[in-house]
Amino acid sequence: MTKPLHLIVAGGGIGGLAAAFVLAGKGHTVTVLEQSAAFGEIGAGIQLGPNIFKMFDYLGLTEAVNQVAYFPPGLGMNDVRTGEQVIRVPLGETARAAYGYPYGLIYRADLHQVFLDACRAQPQVRLRTASKLASFEQDAHSVRVQLASGEVLQGDALIGADGLWSRVREAVVGDGKPRVSGHIAYRAVLKRQDVPAHLWNDEVLLWGGERTHLVHYPLRRGELFNLVAVFHSDKYDEGWNTFGDSAELNERFANAVPQVRELLSRIETWKMWVLCDREPVRNWSDRRVTLLGDAAHPMLQYLAQGAGQAIEDAVVLGQALRHTHDDVQQAFQQYQQERYLRTGRVQLTARFYGDIYHASGVQRELRNQMFQGGQESAGFAGLKWMYQGIDPDNLFH
Ligand SMILES: Cc1cc2nc3c(=O)[nH]c(=O)nc-3n(C[C@H](O)[C@H](O)[C@H](O)COP(=O)(O)OP(=O)(O)OC[C@H]3O[C@@H](n4cnc5c(N)ncnc54)[C@H](O)[C@@H]3O)c2cc1C
Repeated sequence: MTKPLHLIVAGGGIGGLAAAFVLAGKGHTVTVLEQSAAFGEIGAGIQLGPNIFKMFDYLGLTEAVNQVAYFPPGLGMNDVRTGEQVIRVPLGETARAAYGYPYGLIYRADLHQVFLDACRAQPQVRLRTASKLASFEQDAHSVRVQLASGEVLQGDALIGADGLWSRVREAVVGDGKPRVSGHIAYRAVLKRQDVPAHLWNDEVLLWGGERTHLVHYPLRRGELFNLVAVFHSDKYDEGWNTFGDSAELNERFANAVPQVRELLSRIETWKMWVLCDREPVRNWSDRRVTLLGDAAHPMLQYLAQGAGQAIEDAVVLGQALRHTHDDVQQAFQQYQQERYLRTGRVQLTARFYGDIYHASGVQRELRNQMFQGGQESAGFAGLKWMYQGIDPDNLFH
């Protein structure tokens, strides 16, 4: 390796920490700048496809993840109005046999903690809280990042992993605010003992309805129960952590089967997310600055891949640096070239899956008929390109 680089990562979410861990593993010094007073994650669930477990394996983190994950035996969709099963896809051994890796569920805070612990174990990672990137500039040899406090840091390159409302993206891509999808998510997590046996389900179950759906699944070895209810609304509140209006939610699910209404009624406080994405772009790097995760390719959650794609980004970025012998400008170009079509495809397919889940009228009947008449795994077969994942040792040929 040439002289180790000093890389600055803006954002200490799952993407930023994954990048720091990978890049430090390549021998570089990494400074992570997190604007919040402490590193942490919102308490909610994340689904992780086999493509992400492939990355955990590659990164040597499988054991740490397995200790806190939950592995569901299947994933299904029911019609929220009639209760009829639309489709069920077996997971467990079936997913392992098809993709070589499992399909798992994890508490976001637990996944974040896995990466935080991994970074803390790397002496070359410097983790800084209360460090908000305010602006940056670059010349032929370095980048200078100015924090909101006025402090200036110098490094060889900057990676903007600063999420959906990325400051770094504003300067690099300049495509304005994210696209507000008009879809709102309400989320809550219950302890297992607070879910009556007749409402508990070991699987990922999505109740699809007209312009609404509810998805629930167990987390953390089955000790928690995650619920996310989504509906179309014009409300817009920037941020990921505001309180939801239970009355509005209950109204949206007024036609749901009693089981769903009973489940929803057990939750006193919902947290709300306004769901946004962006049009895919092919260029998210500018010389010594690049983007990663939601900053580069924010997507709707309908394929449950946002965090997973951020982790794949981190792995590819590490490989690009290795492949270019640490020529950051060339590496950033190769990295985005390798990533933009795959992540763009996830962004666009996620929108399409949202339409399928929320179908109404004839569209809904056709969906049910199509899935029910098909193979058990029909709903998944079209996603093979995604779940097969990437092959880190076979890039850039
Ligand atoms: C309802 C919902 C369900 C989801 N379900 C799944 C799922 O099942 N599976 C999945 O893989 N993904 C899922 N996702 C997507 C996933 O949550 C995101 O894609 C992922 O968290 C993105 O990680 P990130 O690190 O890129 O960005 P973020 O998590 O947004 O992290 C960005 C970090 O940067 C910090 N920051 C921002 N600006 C600055 C600044 N100027 N200076 C310093 N720090 C800054 C922020 O405080 C934050 O810590 C879901 C998303 C939603 C909304």
